[in-house]
Amino acid sequence: MSGETNSWERKVHQAFRLGAEAFKEAMQAIKRVGPNPPPKIAQRIEGRLFSKLQEIWAQYPDLKSPTTGLLYSSSPDLRLNDVEHLHWRRHGKLHHQDRARVHADDLDAFGRVNRTLNDYVAWRRGQYVKDFKIDPDHWTLLEMGFDFGLNDLSAEELADCFDALCPCGRSHDADALKKQRSRVKSAIKKAQNP
Ligand SMILES: [Zn+2]
Repeated sequence: MSGETNSWERKVHQAFRLGAEAFKEAMQAIKRVGPNPPPKIAQRIEGRLFSKLQEIWAQYPDLKSPTTGLLYSSSPDLRLNDVEHLHWRRHGKLHHQDRARVHADDLDAFGRVNRTLNDYVAWRRGQYVKDFKIDPDHWTLLEMGFDFGLNDLSAEELADCFDALCPCGRSHDADALKKQRSRVKSAIKKAQNP
């Protein structure tokens, strides 16, 4: 593929590629700190990534991601954003929807919200948090590109795209990635119609 533009690059929006590159850079910076980076350092790098992403989106004022708008409140309070991310990735349910269920005395939702808060406190303290079903780097990219062409890529294009943009550092299997994309897609569909 040397010299020519990969087909995934033509099919995804430029804003997604720039955002994914910023994400990769930040995740690699965290990994360079060591296997258990102090939470304060990781959070500082994430804070910088957050500002960088705001700058990138600001270059495309007409660009909207209805999916990101649905999934996260994009609060200036990064702690709320982290809780929303943890909840969504652990349970495949939206934090604000589950909080409304808690108010209606739904005990399952209560359990999920508690679990998320426990995960959050452990994560802030640099303690062990059980892995998610989908690699968090993959989940982030699949969400970030959801409205920006990632769903239009063939399985092979998707793997090429992840080989270029994913911070996980492994090479990507087209079929496995396609399955992960379907899983994220169906979780998002459910969140749209709770
Ligand atoms: Zn990866």
